[in-house]
Amino acid sequence: MKNPMMNHTSPSHSLTFESLRIRSVLVPLRRPVFAKVGTFHQWPLVLIDVHTREGVTGHSYLEPHVPAAIPAIQTMLDILAHTLKGKVLAPLDAYGDSLKALHLLGREGVSLIAISGLDMAIWDALARASHLPLARLLGGQPGPVRAYNTTGLWLSPIQTLGAEAKTLVAQGGFQALKMRLGRATVQEDLLAIRTVRDAVGPDIHLMSDFNQSLSYAEALHRLRALDDQGMYWFEEPVVYDQPQRIADITRQIQTPVQIGENIYGPRGFYQAVAAGTADLYMPDLMRIGGVTGWMRAAAIAGAAGLPLSSHLYASVSSHLLRASETADWLEWSDWAEPVLAQPCVVANGCVTVPDRPGNSIEWNEAAVAKYAI
Ligand code: MG
Repeated sequence: MKNPMMNHTSPSHSLTFESLRIRSVLVPLRRPVFAKVGTFHQWPLVLIDVHTREGVTGHSYLEPHVPAAIPAIQTMLDILAHTLKGKVLAPLDAYGDSLKALHLLGREGVSLIAISGLDMAIWDALARASHLPLARLLGGQPGPVRAYNTTGLWLSPIQTLGAEAKTLVAQGGFQALKMRLGRATVQEDLLAIRTVRDAVGPDIHLMSDFNQSLSYAEALHRLRALDDQGMYWFEEPVVYDQPQRIADITRQIQTPVQIGENIYGPRGFYQAVAAGTADLYMPDLMRIGGVTGWMRAAAIAGAAGLPLSSHLYASVSSHLLRASETADWLEWSDWAEPVLAQPCVVANGCVTVPDRPGNSIEWNEAAVAKYAI
């Protein structure tokens, strides 16, 4: 006998793609970025809203580094909006359909950056429609993720690094900071390390990033000279598209080598892992393929037993690290916070994933209007 109380028409969480809203902002940086890849006083963001026929809206943003990239991303997103119009929003299907739609323009680069932004917004819509935090939708749960502060210690004057390092630690009770290396001489890098270490003491982990600035020969010389400095990792010593060179360096240097922010998609990630390119990996959500690409990469990292950290995108990345087998470190940056209504909660060196539906992104509309470009 049927239970009359059983609801055979319980609402499905199915969502239908209606439209995209794309806005761009240029927000100020509290501390300018002085890196080998560029100097930045402001930071561009592409804000993406996926509107569904059912009235649920999903949010995401992209950090394209340079405003000049925005029109190209917009063009790709326009193509994707046309492709998905009227379709049921299943993120995995949307990811596949989007790759097919842009296949002839290339499955990496700007194509994948646009697909990644759209993918993150679609997953957010699904999480909101399901009344679940993204971490829970993915099978994990809200909670803390250990984080390092990445927002300072650029290639700025060495005498300023000590005070800045103390400020960065205090910003969230951080137990780990990232500093940039690759100054003109080995002696300057050594002095920079000593300055930061003297300021923060022996118990703070110091990650280091060369931002792809060295030639292969320079990298071997420099990393050997710095190999006994207790750096937690050496990141991107040479340009990212020389995996064989990176693998050679990884084998010759004791300090773990970290890469990943320039790996495009889970297949690129698989190739890097299969080739033993680095010791550690830190995908960037806008290049790895959004949530879908991240989870596929996370499965590869888990199976390979490789620690997985994140690059930028602290809000969404924190959810994903809560659902990743080999979750390691969250790279914490507040660069998008001027336009976020609810910035990441950071304390005691951890970002805590909140127990509320979605991926944690809500717009501060007044700020979006103020910084619109
Ligand atoms: Mg980096």
